[in-house]
Amino acid sequence: MLINLTDVFTEEEKSVTKEVPLELTSIRFQGEDFRILEKTPVRLTLANNGQGRALIEADAEVTVELKCDRCLREVTREFAVHASVAAVSPDVANAEEQDEESGFLEGYQLNVDSLISNEIITCWPMKILCKEDCKGLCSVCGKDLNEGTCDCDTFVPDPRMAAIMDIFRENKEV
Ligand SMILES: [Zn+2]
Ligand SMILES: [Zn+2]
Repeated sequence: MLINLTDVFTEEEKSVTKEVPLELTSIRFQGEDFRILEKTPVRLTLANNGQGRALIEADAEVTVELKCDRCLREVTREFAVHASVAAVSPDVANAEEQDEESGFLEGYQLNVDSLISNEIITCWPMKILCKEDCKGLCSVCGKDLNEGTCDCDTFVPDPRMAAIMDIFRENKEV
């Protein structure tokens, strides 16, 4: 959703509070799309911060479906988003500032979805695990080791065996 900031940029001491829906349905991170399962409306505060400048605050809670780094199981994570950013009107911004702000500003308009999306990406967890001691998948047969062990020698996988397992997997899929 785009919000016009012209008034906030130009009218001194102007401050607007509003709630808008979040239109975003997924977050794109490192070339992959992650589904948004739940989201609250975005609470916005837009305040004039001097000629051609505005201070934008946005709050929302967004639940995203992530994947466990080890076993690829779905993991839900709630992000409590709080963004507090300075926006500069295209009238007063120099080239450098323009570049920095272009992530959520489109001319005089605030792109609420980009702002929230950027904020979630900034808070993206370094490590995503379904549980602290997730055992992951066997690197040879692909079995989920949380559900039991397999007979593979995972430390010295035999490439010939891996090839046979590939054929086995292909046949199973048919
Ligand atoms: Zn896991
Ligand atoms: Zn195995």
